[in-house]
Amino acid sequence: MSTRVLVDAARPAREAGFDCVRRYLVADVQARFRRRGGDGVGFVFGIQAPAPEIDAAATQQGQPAERLIEGYRQRICARLQGLEVSCDWERTAVSSAADQAAELQNIFTSLFERDLVYRAGASWFFRSGRFAEWSEQGLERLSGWDLAAIEAQRQALDRVDGVELTATLLGAGELVLFTTSPDAVERTEFIALSPRHPNVEAIVGAEALAALGRASGDSPAVQTTLQASLPGVERLLPVVLTPALEERARATASLGVPADDPAAGLIAGHLQKSAGLPFRTHERGSKMRPASRYGLADLAVSRRGAWGTAIPVLHCRACGVVPLSEEARESDSPSPPCPSCGAPAERDPGVLSPDFEAMWGWLLASGGLDAAGSPDGSERLILVSAGDGSRLLHQRIAAAVAAGSGPDPEPEREGTFAVAAVVGRVEVKAPACVGSVDALDGLVAEIGADAVRFALLDAAGPSTVAGVFAHSVRHAERFLAELRDFAEPRLRASGPVESIDPATRLRRRLRAWCRVAEERTSAALERLDGKRATHELALFLRRIEDFEERAAAGGELAAEDRQAVAFALARWAELAEPCVPGIAAELSALAAAPAAMEELAA
Ligand SMILES: [Zn+2]
Repeated sequence: MSTRVLVDAARPAREAGFDCVRRYLVADVQARFRRRGGDGVGFVFGIQAPAPEIDAAATQQGQPAERLIEGYRQRICARLQGLEVSCDWERTAVSSAADQAAELQNIFTSLFERDLVYRAGASWFFRSGRFAEWSEQGLERLSGWDLAAIEAQRQALDRVDGVELTATLLGAGELVLFTTSPDAVERTEFIALSPRHPNVEAIVGAEALAALGRASGDSPAVQTTLQASLPGVERLLPVVLTPALEERARATASLGVPADDPAAGLIAGHLQKSAGLPFRTHERGSKMRPASRYGLADLAVSRRGAWGTAIPVLHCRACGVVPLSEEARESDSPSPPCPSCGAPAERDPGVLSPDFEAMWGWLLASGGLDAAGSPDGSERLILVSAGDGSRLLHQRIAAAVAAGSGPDPEPEREGTFAVAAVVGRVEVKAPACVGSVDALDGLVAEIGADAVRFALLDAAGPSTVAGVFAHSVRHAERFLAELRDFAEPRLRASGPVESIDPATRLRRRLRAWCRVAEERTSAALERLDGKRATHELALFLRRIEDFEERAAAGGELAAEDRQAVAFALARWAELAEPCVPGIAAELSALAAAPAAMEELAA
């Protein structure tokens, strides 16, 4: 089995705060745990560079943004290295860094050619809405996901149920309308068509759109010359071009019902009445059909900025938007020739947004787009994120889009994101001395990476709100000091031990405890529950101490009992490695040391 552990560091402002660092640790524990189980592990951080901060610093310090981003990457990596986080440092992806630019531009071009990105105003958007139904259906099939992660996605999808019905536009075909209140149909006074409707220009013409551009007020509206017949309404209804009803109706084509919506009332008051002849509708295909709409908004995938990865398209007067050729991407010319007609064309002023990079760049960094879910389930992707539902949806969509080739979503492959986790927001009450982000480094220097790791893992389960961090720090420090005092001399004095001699009941019981500790710690780590894992480790150590006390019963320990203690302590170190790698490695080395000496002698 191969495992990718992918950390989505989506919140740059709190990048290196305790909340974030704890999430990184949960990911690290997971990567170490999977490696110990024999998986090939790719462990990658996707870090969102804080664009406003970098803009401000670039202006203030007169430094190129690239250098500031690299500095940002190095600071975060240093902090993670201080905590013994075992990710693939070379592959850490930072948004807007130059190393992925060409691949990200290829992805954008492919999305453009598949009509999955579009330009509205000065910004580019990804058609997230097209994947809403697909995303919702897929939620049922996600295995191994944290329940909070599934619920967060459901909220981000924001589904509403209603009905669709078809209006006949006189001389202009048909228009599918959506409403959440089917009983309002007979009170309809006009048909509302949003300028964001996909066919709007073909239906109303450019002139009406231009007129709407000149309209003002809270509910800008333009009455078009079109009239529509609607099943269940005996008059012809005017068609009004307006964005004002779209949000409430959750549709770009809907019913104008003044009785239900003040904005519709305002518009209806200004409508010019037509001759108003009664109109008999033919009930052909007029049935209302149950339908749903989703609130998942199309994602902005560009931003304005002087630095970052350029949107790889040209604007040509004659041909419109044309993808940039790879050679033209590398040239400095502000107006390279259009690849279609050869006339000078303009570059797009935008750069790819951090959201775009998080969708595809993180997958690229973690080992390529195509392997996000292998059909045979031999690969698993563990996504560790802050649990923003929209962000999780987009990560799933990105994997599916990368796996497919057409504009429409393909069914989600079994095994894509076979396991995923969300580490909930943690309100860590840091001790006063470590209130600031920089103080975390101080704390690591003072009590060691292991104690900080143990404390942060102990502070909360994966999707719960944290307990008291000050208490956890003291507890972790004391616990690890006691462990060292107890384990070091005993392991030093003992040679490597193969097994526990089962001749006494106490030793048989200790042997059973070793098995139980293994099972429970692994189960906790499988669920990414660091709190439970640290609890089990503490309990296991108490059992070992308890065994020694009973076995000695006030006198000397038998040699087999000393060996049993050394065996159990070596098991403890193995189980604890994902959580406290430093002390675990020391103890494992002690447990193996005499054997290593003998090998040297031989
Ligand atoms: Zn052209």
